[in-house]
Amino acid sequence: MYSKLKRIIRRTSNLFRPSAVILLYHRVSDEGLDPQLLCVSRRNFAAQMAQLRKEYNVISLQELSDDIGRGIVPRGAVAVTFDDGYRDNLTCARPVAEEYGIPATVFVSTGYIGENREFWWDDLERAILSPAALPPSLRLEIAGKTYSRELGGAPGGEEGAKQPAGWNVLNKKPDSGRQRAYRELHALFLKLDADERFKALGDLCAWAGVPLSCRPDHLPLNEGEIRSLAEGGLIDIGSHGCSHSNLAAQSREVQAQEIAGSKRRLEDILGRPVTSFAYPFGGRHDITGDISALVKDSGYRSACINVPVSVRAGTDPFLLGRHIARDWGIEEFSSRLRGLFYE
Ligand SMILES: [Zn+2]
Repeated sequence: MYSKLKRIIRRTSNLFRPSAVILLYHRVSDEGLDPQLLCVSRRNFAAQMAQLRKEYNVISLQELSDDIGRGIVPRGAVAVTFDDGYRDNLTCARPVAEEYGIPATVFVSTGYIGENREFWWDDLERAILSPAALPPSLRLEIAGKTYSRELGGAPGGEEGAKQPAGWNVLNKKPDSGRQRAYRELHALFLKLDADERFKALGDLCAWAGVPLSCRPDHLPLNEGEIRSLAEGGLIDIGSHGCSHSNLAAQSREVQAQEIAGSKRRLEDILGRPVTSFAYPFGGRHDITGDISALVKDSGYRSACINVPVSVRAGTDPFLLGRHIARDWGIEEFSSRLRGLFYE
């Protein structure tokens, strides 16, 4: 009740303050299991981009951030961004962006480039939610601590076939043993550093009997694909760190490597400066003043967070809020987007 009231007060006070909206996408794909709700179908993505072109002033993130820095808020401005660096950003999203002339910024986690590895949350889904059968109990050593969970279900833990394809982390229904394990391991893994997580994922995949490889439709972008994506200048490449770790849980040294090292890697690939950053996870509690100062000192000009607030004159260019775009049909997308200008 209280948060609803706060929301009404915020929206009312925002009514007369011009704002712009930054949208956050991850994947354009017609995948089945999507527990993190990262996929927008090809059809909905095309309809969403057509709507943006028709009704809004779509500008690049850099242009918007420069304008905001000068105290200018372009009327009806929307910027499009993608996080993580999935290959489908090149194969599925870019052709649509070109068709409608939509500039976009793709934030790439550089530790996955050319590794033939899935992003760690996809490995987790592949090992826990996807297999038809799993052993009935899971015991895993994670960074010196033991994690254990009984998976329940039928003898042999064979409840995989019963996983509802539409289950996701926002779902409020009671979880199965696998879904609980998925949630718990996701929370544990995001606090690990890259080496600890790699080790735990290897053990988890061995337990589940799935290979540590990559499904073709879950591939991260490789070097050549990053260059192809950026070709022509409609799509800009930004950094999303190296290992997609929660920066606040890392040492200062690791933070510096994630922020500056990923920038250097992308600049080597592209042969030009990389000026924008998106904090991995990017919630309010994932970013300290020290981390955003490090981003600034590393030579970036702007940085995006994953907090659903719109940008206004005076917004810190290193704390640009974004709204996640989901797999909505055009009516829901249109009505939600209109409301976002008051958030
Ligand atoms: Zn991400």
